Amino acid sequence: AKRLGGRRHAFFRKELADQAHRHLALDRDLRTALAGGQFQLHYQPKVSLIDFSLEGFEALLRWEKPGHGMISPGEFIPVAEDTGFIVPLGDWVLDEACRQLRAWLDDGLDPVPVAVNISPRHLRHHSAEDFRRIIDRHGLSPDLVELEITEGAVMQDMDHALEVLAALKAMGIRVAVDDFGTGHSSLSYLKRLPVTTLKIDRSFVNGVPSVREDNGIVSTIIAMADMLGLDVVAEGVEKPEQANFLRHHNCTLVQGWLTGRPVPAVQAADLLVKRIKQ
Ligand code: C2E
Ligand code: CA
Ligand code: CA
Ligand code: CA
Repeated sequence: AKRLGGRRHAFFRKELADQAHRHLALDRDLRTALAGGQFQLHYQPKVSLIDFSLEGFEALLRWEKPGHGMISPGEFIPVAEDTGFIVPLGDWVLDEACRQLRAWLDDGLDPVPVAVNISPRHLRHHSAEDFRRIIDRHGLSPDLVELEITEGAVMQDMDHALEVLAALKAMGIRVAVDDFGTGHSSLSYLKRLPVTTLKIDRSFVNGVPSVREDNGIVSTIIAMADMLGLDVVAEGVEKPEQANFLRHHNCTLVQGWLTGRPVPAVQAADLLVKRIKQ
């Protein structure tokens, strides 16, 4: 038994070493990718269910690794968060979204606000000024930019988060609580959060309208947002039945495959052009 235990131990040690090795290799590739311009942003529409007008975009990171094709953010964001590379990477994402907004304005388009995902470590690392400096670099009105912060990130360091969010709000930068409903934040915390929007996590929207519990959770989040004077966006809307349920419960903003997949900047610009013509 002792020998077996020893072998098990060695097995896990090898697993850990392999994982550390993979992390190191990926971290090195990520740094090369940033320096080499291998990242780009895709933009997913946020759409009104009332008239299907375009109300905003969420910028989503894409990594086209030479010889590997597209690598999903779900694979590399957690590692970047782990190694700390998320701070320069997250700054790049915000800067790139702002650069794109500036370019659209310079082209005579009337852009909608663009939301950028801010990871927990990025939020802990930065002050509100750090975020503002990037937006200011492009001479943008702060209300064209929204930061999406997960409920979990806010809970990790409540004092810092409250301070940054309050300062962002004072600067006119919009803030959304992302993946809402997954982070166990209490109502009393939510009441104190200086944010503008709640985004209902896809895992709840998924079950609507066939899973009774999900119907309850989704309609309760919508009612709560309404009571607190917050906008609410349902993410991951794929089916007309889901849109109908949401509309019926007074959630009018949706983001999902039903109303638009994430698209490269050129196609996002086409959506802005169509918007002017309407
Ligand atoms: P998220 O913030 O919850 O982003 C929404 C994800 O849902 C995106 O996946 C989007 O493509 C996907 N999605 C949108 N509509 C639908 C739908 O109708 N059905 C389904 N099945 N999926 C839908 P994506 O682009 O793979 O991003 C995954 C996650 O990676 C994001 O989840 C976010 O947490 C993270 N991420 C992406 N870009 C960034 C970034 O620039 N910075 C940070 N920190 N995280 C990012
Ligand atoms: Ca998001
Ligand atoms: Ca989300
Ligand atoms: Ca999500």
